[in-house]
Amino acid sequence: MKLLSGKTALVTGASRGIGHSIAKKFAEQGANIAFTYLSSVERGEALEKELSEYGIKAKGYRSDASDFSATEQLINTVITDLGSLDILVNNAGITQDTLLMRMNEEMWDKVIDVNLKSVYNTVKAALRTFLKQKSGSIINLTSVVGIKGNAGQANYAASKAGIIGFTKSVALELGSRNIRSNAIAPGFIETEMTDKLDEKTVQSWRDAIPLKRGGSPDDVADCALFLASDMSAYITGQVLQVDGGMLT
Ligand code: NAP
Repeated sequence: MKLLSGKTALVTGASRGIGHSIAKKFAEQGANIAFTYLSSVERGEALEKELSEYGIKAKGYRSDASDFSATEQLINTVITDLGSLDILVNNAGITQDTLLMRMNEEMWDKVIDVNLKSVYNTVKAALRTFLKQKSGSIINLTSVVGIKGNAGQANYAASKAGIIGFTKSVALELGSRNIRSNAIAPGFIETEMTDKLDEKTVQSWRDAIPLKRGGSPDDVADCALFLASDMSAYITGQVLQVDGGMLT
């Protein structure tokens, strides 16, 4: 028996990186998959084909996670297209790094909107469905940076810390309705997001990791699979670090 047979999941930002691995891992485990992307249209179309080969329903949508009414529309369309929604993975995220001295209002607003407001957008839109079916698993991608802060990432760290507060509040509000809300805090994961960093910064991150390697998107997807499935049925309001021991 597959871990997610008969379930439907929405993964935001699945055209590459961690979201891509989560979508594939969930499909492998029998879930129907809806996923979003913003600019990577070709990769989105390729992923839809790849996922269909697992014999599940798969549908990609071009949708801006930071847009409230677009997200409301997206969730309604997903439920019409795939029939239900059981698992919500808020993965879409961006960085716009610079020291606070140089961080303008636009850089602040953009990162907060894409990373944090997006989580409110999807949860708010999916809530009625989760309440009606008396179940739902919400998984939000935060970061170790949201726990400890990071120079040059005040906007990103604030957005990720906000996600932790949101995740725990939703767990408290909705636990009695069997709706679980958890977060994953990855450390240094090798994706296009971290490709942008210079080699010296990357080496200093690696040196600080007890397991002495960067994580892979699959390392994070394994954790998401656990949180999505009934294997974590008694876990809510938690932040699971997938960081090779970096923040211990
Ligand atoms: P990535 O490789 O840069 O991929 C980001 C994904 O988000 C892409 O699919 C992108 O779609 C999508 N996206 C960006 N803005 C969007 C928007 N406005 N609406 C919809 N989709 C949007 O990033 P990643 O490294 O896989 O990171 C995934 C998540 O994990 C993020 O929330 C990130 O903050 C978190 N995280 C990552 C690390 C790490 O070390 N990599 C560490 C901690 C936390 P397009 O391709 O269409 O732009």
